[in-house]
Amino acid sequence: MELQLSELKNNEGQLISIDESGSLDTISFHDDELEVREDLRITGGAIFTSEEVIDVSLDFSTTVIEHCRRCLEPIETDIDRHEEIEFRPDMDAEVTSEGNLSIYKYESGSGAIDLLPYIIRFIKLDLDPYPLCKDDCQGLCPKCGANLNEEEDHSCETEEEGEAKDPRMEKLAELL
Ligand SMILES: [Zn+2]
Ligand SMILES: [Zn+2]
Repeated sequence: MELQLSELKNNEGQLISIDESGSLDTISFHDDELEVREDLRITGGAIFTSEEVIDVSLDFSTTVIEHCRRCLEPIETDIDRHEEIEFRPDMDAEVTSEGNLSIYKYESGSGAIDLLPYIIRFIKLDLDPYPLCKDDCQGLCPKCGANLNEEEDHSCETEEEGEAKDPRMEKLAELL
């Protein structure tokens, strides 16, 4: 998923097509490692212009698995985005934007631009930092971990309420 700068420079003004797929195992997102279920597929094109600006048009898709913050059930998020990116040399800022165009600085002396970190950044825009399987998810029983969406009349919390645990009985339970 790299743009080779020499190839782009040698074909100045011409569209170099991008058609790649690769696997991403996980994406780090808010202290979580999210599983990526589908191969990441990237298509599009890149042009090196006379001002050494690289115009990149990308379409990419994959499926990321998040987990409900309350009951931990998996939630699939399909990613399918189109992005217009421009890489500019010698820009003051590392990143800026103009309308829908995202603009990043690149080192004109470097050999290649790895697109993956930029794509991952865009994928994260489609992820929910507080995903819920449904708005009224009941979560898990804090005592036994049962999924309260599946057991409406779950009551182990009230049964054990006020019952101080005997440490000797716990030791015994471990041995059994
Ligand atoms: Zn849930
Ligand atoms: Zn319970």
